[in-house]
Formats: sequence, structure tokens, C-alpha cells
Amino acid sequence: MSLMKLEIVQAGNPVLRQRARPLSVEEIRDSEIRKLIESMRACMHEAPGVGLAAPQVGLALQLAVIEDREKYHKDVPEEQLRERERRPVPFHAIINPLIEAIGEEKTEFFEGCLSVSGYSALVSRARAVRVTCLDENGQRQIIEASGWYARILQHEIDHLNGTLYIDRMKTRSFTSMENWAEFWKGKPVSAIQSQLELESSGRF
Ligand code: ZN
Repeated sequence: MSLMKLEIVQAGNPVLRQRARPLSVEEIRDSEIRKLIESMRACMHEAPGVGLAAPQVGLALQLAVIEDREKYHKDVPEEQLRERERRPVPFHAIINPLIEAIGEEKTEFFEGCLSVSGYSALVSRARAVRVTCLDENGQRQIIEASGWYARILQHEIDHLNGTLYIDRMKTRSFTSMENWAEFWKGKPVSAIQSQLELESSGRF
């Protein structure tokens, strides 16, 4: 199968603000969508990233691919993997997803996006979620996820609804990746929140 050449669009492109349309089971089983999924997988690997939603390659479709590869964890300190509850996730597609939080617990970590290239910010997300969707074969799946995988799901499904992490971020924590590496990398989130005066919700 020859792959499509996909390009990741950046913030400001209106496709990132559209509500994507659902795919029919017929479309999912059609060779065009199969080819698109394989092409998105290659594009995500090349970036590299742990998730990619169709609107990010200019297509307003309710489709995203996810894969958190073990090899990405090699350079991440063990402590950080544990704090983020980050474990490898095998490649899969989510199509026409519905998402709900499991429980009330939230976690806050720095998050980035291939469509807001070069930046990062703290984003509060549900620690665990349940996603009902179709997979790349058009089969109905119910995914229950926690930790980093739950964060990836929330981030990607936001894309399908025209939402970016910058809509949810703690704006005072917004940073270039260079400054993140210089000033914030490796610090406990609680220390960062305190340094940025993020702990009190009533800040004006
Ligand atoms: Zn993104």
C-alpha cells in the first residue's frame, strides 16, 4: 500500500477549530480510510508523537491514531514515567469516539501538541476515562484507560471537537520547549504550581 504524504497543520488553520464529521462503517472498511490510517501512523512516527488526529492533517474526520512506543520511554526518567502513570500503548485507531471521565480525580502535567509546535503548558485532565468508539476494523470498542493513556485519549478526542490544549491550559504555565527544558523540566508539578502561583483558583 503506498502511503499518502500528510502534513501536520499548525494552530490558526480553521480545520483545527471545526467539529469533525463521523465516519460510516462502510467508509472505515474502504481502502481510502485504511490508507489514511496507515499514513497517519507513519506521520505520527515521523513527528514523533504519541497521538495524531485527522484534523491535524487537514481532514475534519472523527478519526485519531494513538501509539505510545516503549522506545520513547528510554530517555524518560523512571520517576517521571511513574508519576505520569505512563506505560506503552500499542498502535490503534479511535473512530467516532464518545468519552466520559471515570471518577473525579484530576492530574496536571505539561502537555504539548504537534499542531502547537514548540510550546508546552500545564493541563489538568481526568485521571481515568472510558471511551466508546469504533476501531480501525469498524468494530465497537470500549476502552478504559488511566494515567498518560487517558490524557492522550482526552487530547486527541478534543481535536475531533475543535478543541486544543491551549483552551484548557493553565495560561501562566505556557512555555517554549526551550524554556521548559531550561527552567521546568524534571521539577515536581507541585513545585511548579507554587512557583507560578497556580494553587489558588481565585487568582485575578
Ligand atoms: Zn494535539
